[in-house]
Amino acid sequence: MDAKPVLHVAVVACMDARLDLHDALGLALGDCHTIRNAGGVVTDDVIRSLTISQRALGTRSIVLIHHTNCGLESITEEFRQELEAEVGQRPVWAVEAYKDADQDVRQSMQRVRTSPFLLHTDDVRGFVFDVTTGLLREVLPVA
Ligand SMILES: [Zn+2]
Repeated sequence: MDAKPVLHVAVVACMDARLDLHDALGLALGDCHTIRNAGGVVTDDVIRSLTISQRALGTRSIVLIHHTNCGLESITEEFRQELEAEVGQRPVWAVEAYKDADQDVRQSMQRVRTSPFLLHTDDVRGFVFDVTTGLLREVLPVA
């Protein structure tokens, strides 16, 4: 099996335990890169992985997946201050908490589209996975 994803796709998704990415997207082993973190947010480290995915391993399309009832909806940026109070050090990273999954998918799409490091930013699609129904709904960019 080649290390290069067969479908030339990189998927960025939340780490949520209820989201089986390959099942939800009908993908098989070897089809895509999967980059996961809390929220499926496009952070600098996600851009790092996407840049390597595109420039070294030939992917051309990006799929972003957030989901309903995400843990990031129930915390706020104050989480960082709570950590600082507890351990005496404030994390350098943002919590990236959000209230509206559609809006956050659009923000992540925008971060991908405006990255100077990526080769391909035209084929970017965003979805919200409904953890109750198991269905994916596409988020359309605001015109
Ligand atoms: Zn989540």
